[in-house]
Amino acid sequence: MHEMSIIQSILGILKEEMVKYDGQKLKKVTIKNGALAGVVTESLTFAWEALIPDTPYAGVVLEVVEVPIKVACGQCGEEFWPEHTKCMPCPKCETLIGHDVLEGKEMLIDSIEIDDTV
Ligand SMILES: [Zn+2]
Repeated sequence: MHEMSIIQSILGILKEEMVKYDGQKLKKVTIKNGALAGVVTESLTFAWEALIPDTPYAGVVLEVVEVPIKVACGQCGEEFWPEHTKCMPCPKCETLIGHDVLEGKEMLIDSIEIDDTV
C-alpha cells in the first residue's frame, strides 16, 4: 500500500524533527496533499491510524489539507484553479494544454504542533 510508505517516511521525518523538542510531546501533524500527488486523503488517515499505535506518536492527530491544482496558462499566463485534473481550459484564452503547475503536487509536512502544557 502506497500510503503506508508515505506515512512511514513522515514518521521518519517526525522522529528527526522531535529531537529538537527534547522530551516534549507531539500533539498534531498537518500534511499537505496536493490534488496531483495521487494520494487519497482517507487512505492516508487510515494508514496513520494503523501505524501510529506502535510508535511514540500514539494519539497524535493527523490533519490532511487538500491542496487544489493551481496552474498558470502557458499561452497568456493567467493563473487559475482548473475543475478537472485532465481537462484544464484557461478561463481567459481557452488554451487547454501547456500550463505550468504552480500548486497541487505537494506531499509534505506543513506544520507540527507541540504540546507544551506538559
Ligand atoms: Zn490563457
